[in-house]
Amino acid sequence: MGRLDCHARNWLAMTIKHWGKNMKIPYINLKAEHKALKKQILKEVAKVLDSANFILGPEVQEFEKNAAKYCGTKYAVGLNSGTDALFLALKVLGVGPGDEVITAPNSFVASASVIVAVGAVPVFVDVRDDMNINPDLIEEKITSKTKAIMPVNLTGKMCDMDRILSIAEKHNLYVVEDSAQSIGAEYRGKRAGSFGDVNCFSLHPLKTLNACGDAGFITTNDEEIYTKLTKLRNIGMKNRNEVQYWGYNSRLDSIQAAIINLKFKKLDSWIKARRKIADYYRKNLRGLAEKGLIMLPSEDKHEKPAYHTFIIQVDKRDELQQYLLENGVETKIHYPIPIHLQEAAKGLGYKEGDFPVIERQVKRILSLPVYQELTKKQQDYIITQIKGFFGPA
Ligand SMILES: *Cc1c(COP(=O)(O)O)cnc(C)c1O
Repeated sequence: MGRLDCHARNWLAMTIKHWGKNMKIPYINLKAEHKALKKQILKEVAKVLDSANFILGPEVQEFEKNAAKYCGTKYAVGLNSGTDALFLALKVLGVGPGDEVITAPNSFVASASVIVAVGAVPVFVDVRDDMNINPDLIEEKITSKTKAIMPVNLTGKMCDMDRILSIAEKHNLYVVEDSAQSIGAEYRGKRAGSFGDVNCFSLHPLKTLNACGDAGFITTNDEEIYTKLTKLRNIGMKNRNEVQYWGYNSRLDSIQAAIINLKFKKLDSWIKARRKIADYYRKNLRGLAEKGLIMLPSEDKHEKPAYHTFIIQVDKRDELQQYLLENGVETKIHYPIPIHLQEAAKGLGYKEGDFPVIERQVKRILSLPVYQELTKKQQDYIITQIKGFFGPA
């Protein structure tokens, strides 16, 4: 018996070593996602080709119904990107020259760049440990020029919306959610997209719900805003011949809408899978967190993050990233340079040291693979490698 046990153990050790040599885990696996759906996607695309109704066809209306229902709002407007969603959100609210918009500088650059694009000024506020805007620091940045707060629900986790909404109400400000990373995230039983006046989503291929190309959308409960947005995205046209506003071409393609309608049916199971992976990481990396070696994403009782990313924070981030890469695990950094320190932001007058929490985080954050196709074996392998980096206790 003892001998057999010993053999079994050796075999197991060898197998693990063998995996160690050969396992290659990409940060994201879009090919696997599309391989599984290819036949169905091609069928949906064929339907649109047969109808030749490529612009604002019935697939777009169906998508808008799906999106509004999913987010728990009255309306949704299909658009060609998350960036245009943010841009049109500010436009429809009349944010422009002379106005200020409060937001976080650790986002994807689009959230700040649209504020500049409409002629307004982004006013940055530091974040909390969870990488979302710190509500305690918002009020001191409000001036007579402040028109809106744009909370970025980074990583698939909602900001402290109760606090943000009450600050906005007190100071009579609009709230524009940047929920590009947060479709399906829940906060006190409500989903992302249902909190602000106008709420923005991206359906970029790297987002959890994704098109095969660029796409995005807005949700709102305000009929007037909704109606105006349906025109603004269509060059301001009221109908074929009459133009009501100076507008843009920000329409969602029928083909992309058809693909997203198909993927919408999978979204809940994808988010469930991501939440399960996050739980598994948290459970198995708890030991390292308790020793203070890494910080794990937190999750409170009142929320259900959707884990667009699973970001750990660690002192020797670059060394850990390199170690994981050498062992076949690809990771990413979202995002290494905060917006206030980008070349483009020079004119805004910020400097290093303005946002100490973010500036410390950018040196410590590391995004682990967390997509729905990640197998248990791969999760175990990633956990083993992270533990291997820190060595025996
Ligand atoms: C992806 C993203 C955007 C931009 O969306 P696009 O569809 O790529 O234009 C905006 N904000 C955040 C936080 C994002 O992650």
